[in-house]
Amino acid sequence: MEKVTILNIHVTNTTKQQFVEQMILERAQRKAPLKIVTANPEIMMLAKENNHYEQLLQQSDHVVADGIGVVLGAKMLHTPLQERIPGYELVHSFLDQAPAHNNRFYFYGGKPGVAQAAAEKVKTLYPQAEVVGIADGYGGNGDEETVAIEISKLQPHYIFVALGAPKQEQWIADHAHRFQHCVMMGVGGSFDVLSG
Ligand code: UDP
Repeated sequence: MEKVTILNIHVTNTTKQQFVEQMILERAQRKAPLKIVTANPEIMMLAKENNHYEQLLQQSDHVVADGIGVVLGAKMLHTPLQERIPGYELVHSFLDQAPAHNNRFYFYGGKPGVAQAAAEKVKTLYPQAEVVGIADGYGGNGDEETVAIEISKLQPHYIFVALGAPKQEQWIADHAHRFQHCVMMGVGGSFDVLSG
């Protein structure tokens, strides 16, 4: 997929629908996990200020424009993006297509009870999408390493990580080696919205 460079970050330039279709195909084919960053302007600015975080973004498979600010920034730089691809909408799209692909999901992050409430909501919205596990983002299910080991036993197809930036991108980078045929996506406050 084509990418445009904004502040040293290569942002995937496609439509939401094409992105979802491509990720579904690639996830099944590629052994290594697909690492997706859903970037808002705060994430882009953090990368500008922090070399290590910039590298995390550069080493991801896809950075998509979650925020309208990123879309506007691209336009100002005369490298327009086709459209905004919000992480929250990707969460819904991946859950929605789950029955056709027998996909399993893991929800990691948010305050205690939030991922659980989000998973309950998923049961009503997408009854055939299987959320195989949840963990809160404040240590209630053990430290980050413990959670990673627990998730690796379940081998989900999608891991949504809601630890906020930069924690979620760091956790994905640290633990990607444990997963295959998997999409790992930082989703910020998505569980708060889904559960609310
Ligand atoms: N969060 C977490 N553990 C932490 C810090 C944050 O689980 O140590 C969660 C927080 O509860 C929230 C999410 O991370 O649900 C992202 O928060 P933020 O408002 O920063 O989201 P963003 O603006 O990145 O979408």
